[in-house]
Amino acid sequence: MPNTVEMLAALAAFPTISADSNEALIRFAAQAITQAGGRIENLAGSVKGKFNLMASFGPVAGAGIVLSGHSDVVPVAGQNWHSAPFSLTEREGRLHARGASDMKGFLAAMLTAAARCEVAKLTRPLHLIFSYDEEIGCVGVRDLLARLAAERFVAQGVIIGEPTEGRVITGHKGKIAGCLCCRGRAAHSANPALGCNAIMLAADMLSEMRALQTELMQGPRDDAYPFPFTSLHAGRIKGGVALNIVPDACEIEFELRHLAGTDTDALLARLRAAGARIGAASNGGTVTLEVTNHYPGLETPRGAAITQIALAAAGRDETGKIGFGTEAGLFAESLGLETVICGPGSIDRAHKADEYVTRDELAACDAFLDRIIATLT
Ligand SMILES: [Zn+2]
Repeated sequence: MPNTVEMLAALAAFPTISADSNEALIRFAAQAITQAGGRIENLAGSVKGKFNLMASFGPVAGAGIVLSGHSDVVPVAGQNWHSAPFSLTEREGRLHARGASDMKGFLAAMLTAAARCEVAKLTRPLHLIFSYDEEIGCVGVRDLLARLAAERFVAQGVIIGEPTEGRVITGHKGKIAGCLCCRGRAAHSANPALGCNAIMLAADMLSEMRALQTELMQGPRDDAYPFPFTSLHAGRIKGGVALNIVPDACEIEFELRHLAGTDTDALLARLRAAGARIGAASNGGTVTLEVTNHYPGLETPRGAAITQIALAAAGRDETGKIGFGTEAGLFAESLGLETVICGPGSIDRAHKADEYVTRDELAACDAFLDRIIATLT
């Protein structure tokens, strides 16, 4: 079995941008796992050319530990890389490649740690999961989680190796992405009374959103986050055809990033009610809300077994929270498993040109995973 740096070089060479197939990487990982004495439990996806992989080492029964990461990476188009992004290149101790931090460094460490462990000594199972299409909204892993839920899968806990610079993360916000679709009626702008201006409906809706954000800032707060409240934001707006036509359509794309435990259904109901009110007050217009993607927040107790195990293995006392979303909330919600996030590299280097992880970070991750796996013997 290659070492973690060599394994990262192999994984980085698969250009697994979310838009493309991850099959070659998954087949490669499955082969490495089989050679290391693991069992392929699940290899499937609901999209052509896309696969989740779940593998296990050691006993079939018992509550083991899950190590998990996504196999896809974000695109490199338009970025000014100083070396080929899908060829791991070392410069001054930094290992550059797309996915080096996010998160093939951890995937490489997962594979080599599993290969290093003495499978016969495991008294509880070690599970490895590779997911797909995380970068487009934690989409791919949901299939696998549904299967595992149906099988009543149990585990002591889950560690997701997103880049946290080795910190043990127990929380992140959840997200709902959606569209407020404002529909009016077209007319010549010379006689706007004949039409219903969808951009004006959208403007009223934006005022409602602003008022709701103000209200949210008087509600629950968590100072572990740079923006300590649930946030509601309009990110894109599209409407109108020509200046002399009363626009009949306008769409607001919005994002709600919520503290774990927020009643998001109630917030969406508020927005829907505001849309209905605005539509009813207009000249025959409507405002409807459509959710396009969502993932839950994460809030794992400090006292959870997996939190304690991860802190001990990482040699740290403090847990933290992060501003970006991960699959962790889905593991917790779908399977009821206690989940933490801890991995090498930094999110600040992810999604950019010259993304990198260092040899030291990978070595620390190797040691971390060896200690995690030792708790299963
Ligand atoms: Zn990631």
